[in-house]
Amino acid sequence: TLFVHPRIGDKAAAFLSREHKLLIGGKWVPAQSGKVFDTHDPGTGRVIARVAEGDAADIDLAVKAARQAFEGGPWSRITPSDRGRLVWKLADLLEQHAEEFAELEALDNGKPLTTARRGDVPLSVDMFRYMAGWATKITGETLSISTPGNYHAFTVREPVGVVGQIIPWNAPLLMAAWKLAPALATGCTIVLKPAEQTPLTALRLGELIQEAGFPDGVVNIVTGFGPTAGAAIAGHPDIDKVAFTGSTEVGRHIVNAAMGNFKKVSLELGGKSPVIVFPDADMSVAVPGAAQAIFANSGQVCTAGSRLFVHKKAFDRMIDGLTQEAGKIRVGHGLAEGTQMGPVISEVQLERIAGYIDQGKAAGATIASGGKRVGSEGYFMAPTILTDTKPDMSVMQEEIFGPVVCAVSFDDDDLEQIAKQANDSIYGLAGSIWTRDLSTAHKMIRRIRAGRIGVNVHGSVDAAIPTGGFKQSGWGREKGHEGLHLYTEVKSVIISL
Ligand code: ADP
Repeated sequence: TLFVHPRIGDKAAAFLSREHKLLIGGKWVPAQSGKVFDTHDPGTGRVIARVAEGDAADIDLAVKAARQAFEGGPWSRITPSDRGRLVWKLADLLEQHAEEFAELEALDNGKPLTTARRGDVPLSVDMFRYMAGWATKITGETLSISTPGNYHAFTVREPVGVVGQIIPWNAPLLMAAWKLAPALATGCTIVLKPAEQTPLTALRLGELIQEAGFPDGVVNIVTGFGPTAGAAIAGHPDIDKVAFTGSTEVGRHIVNAAMGNFKKVSLELGGKSPVIVFPDADMSVAVPGAAQAIFANSGQVCTAGSRLFVHKKAFDRMIDGLTQEAGKIRVGHGLAEGTQMGPVISEVQLERIAGYIDQGKAAGATIASGGKRVGSEGYFMAPTILTDTKPDMSVMQEEIFGPVVCAVSFDDDDLEQIAKQANDSIYGLAGSIWTRDLSTAHKMIRRIRAGRIGVNVHGSVDAAIPTGGFKQSGWGREKGHEGLHLYTEVKSVIISL
């Protein structure tokens, strides 16, 4: 039997009690295999819903539906303005059902209800609105060529075609919005696979997509596992592009599988982002900023500030302050009153995090705060601060994806050396610089090899700000105007006059 959390509202409860099928070609259908799988509440470990388990056969049907919608039918003839209007309508519908989505997200992912209410849901609404505006502004260029009298040349941007999108569990609705919004604005058709840990809000969004009036087959949603449904997307010969957000390890599988038909690939992968605090920083801002950078969403954020570099003059103040901040965080069930940090997503993840902390300890790191599981029900990890960490330790090199920060003090005033330490990573997703000195900030901005730099703030997930990585953090940038380029092909046209 399914567990119904007492704090879940009527609408979310009604959704949970429905059967959860796959959205293919505008119809909700069971998996071809008839299989289903459980989704859990990470705050209790209990089963909250059962969802259709799609695999290669279902992906194939979804791709056929997406291809049909792309090549013919109303979507292929829709005006940019009408496309934008549909995306905007989806944003309105999502906003109207905000509380239901926030509850479902808090229950399925574990995050605090307040986070889902103030963060995930409104940010997703914003993302759809932002991209709705771009639908009418996708243009090419008139080209200045060497023989202007005899030729006229220009470019047009066309939708890339059928797009496969594979998303993670850390911000399930927002990741769906980041993927769907630009693909819809540009006129693509989509096969979306939510993470197996958190399929619910994407399925509810599928219902709203139908209500908004998108033609059948424009958005297809197939729930299922990575090695089956996910791999079928990455390897499908009739998908033109795959967009993936998740681990670097899986990113490598995606790239390999995509080679079969050379589908376009965009990847948003791991990170090990530095937070660099200079001695002149305003510590009343830097301390809570560093805490937020690593403890938000239980550290399950690809851009999390997981390596904290602090000048030795400010180091003790930072560690004392951070320890106090960590101690104040109310860890609890996402739906409980006053919760500030929820569980991590699963037992596997909890054990992985604990394993890293043990490795750090064994290698000589000191636990300044936390380091342990909280309670025995659900998958809660205490906010953890490690000191005495060295560059070659696994905790300093690998993405932990949990509320664990490695603090390091530097006594160097040579920015080159500081940047070298901060850049000592296979990743390059984000970073932040904390200083009152404009010159230090600008010099560091140039030296940090990462896709997003914050100054006196760790970052922002605003729809207008491109996100993505240098180095092994991925390919391409999502969001902003840049994000549209992932979903269009450029066609050059030359006309002999
Ligand atoms: P995590 O390790 O944090 O769970 P993953 O990178 O494994 O993150 O998962 C992100 C998404 O990738 C999920 O939707 C998952 O199902 C999918 N996935 C996992 N393995 C594969 C694979 N081999 N091919 C395609 N997708 C996969």
